[in-house]
Amino acid sequence: MIIEFRETATGPLLERLLAENDGVAVRDDAGHWAVISSKVVQVPDYFAPHAGRVVVCKSDVQLASRSFHAGLREVALGPVRIGGTTGHTALIAGPCAVESEEQIRTVAVALRDQGVRILRAGCFKPRTSPYSFQGLGLKGLELLARIRAEFGLAISTEVRDATHVDAVIEHADIVQIGAKAMYDHGILRACGACRKTILIKRGFGATLQEFIQAAEFVLSGGNPHVVLCERGIRTFESKTRFTLDLCGVSYLKEHTNLPVVVDPSHAMGYAYGVPDLARASVALGIDGLLVEVHPDPAKARSDASQQLDLAAWAALLPSLRAVAQSVGRRIV
Ligand code: PEP
Ligand code: MN
Repeated sequence: MIIEFRETATGPLLERLLAENDGVAVRDDAGHWAVISSKVVQVPDYFAPHAGRVVVCKSDVQLASRSFHAGLREVALGPVRIGGTTGHTALIAGPCAVESEEQIRTVAVALRDQGVRILRAGCFKPRTSPYSFQGLGLKGLELLARIRAEFGLAISTEVRDATHVDAVIEHADIVQIGAKAMYDHGILRACGACRKTILIKRGFGATLQEFIQAAEFVLSGGNPHVVLCERGIRTFESKTRFTLDLCGVSYLKEHTNLPVVVDPSHAMGYAYGVPDLARASVALGIDGLLVEVHPDPAKARSDASQQLDLAAWAALLPSLRAVAQSVGRRIV
């Protein structure tokens, strides 16, 4: 249950409400709320005189729910706004990882010339093996900061664990919480305490409920700038890397107030499927599309098989614009 509280809800009163009902106080620009367990469906008598708007939620999806926020939230992705009534589908593109200045610069030039405003690239890579490229770390973040200053691109980069979350928050415009980090509460809480836009990727074994509840941790920390990203889930199928859950995307669009981004690259795992999945995703009316693009995918130090080369990415853009237009949206 979400209870908007008045100034008269003094410290001890609020503390009692939160302590007795496993609650969290959330203060952001739009107001002050006590968000307590969804099992509670009535405001306790002692708190009733201090309550404003009350929202009863069916589950612990509360701040992310349509009951709380009837429309879609508007969120900034760097210079671009998505969600709300914008009708925008933002493009986020770039290599899996920052590998060298030349590599990231080549991608940045292409994106800038195409009018793409958001560059993605990881510096702290959550690899499945300790014996593969782990990313350039802080050096990569500094490189991205220089690229942003020079090209005016917004930077989306991922946080792997809580040890470097502050550095990523400091350097990124969009902080990406990777699929393997979706359950990391150190990361979620640090992201809740900042005011950067947080793009949370769905864990590949996470249900939609678990995914949205990860977002609730950030929202209940007081950061309303949250975007969900579907990137494929693990199924019995092994011919593709993961299975892109477009049913899940429809569910998120219907039941949450958060903008939804789709990443077909990690879902498919092979470049050949990415353009079709990207178009299918845009046709769903998504708020953002994230695609891995590399100047020389064969030489990529991570996720080589799934990255589009610059020519394939350039060839995809006109059809994305056409599909977006056909469903009443605009690519930005
Ligand atoms: C990535 O974006 O490069 C990445 C590691 O993605 P995910 O967290 O979805 O696996
Ligand atoms: Mn990747």
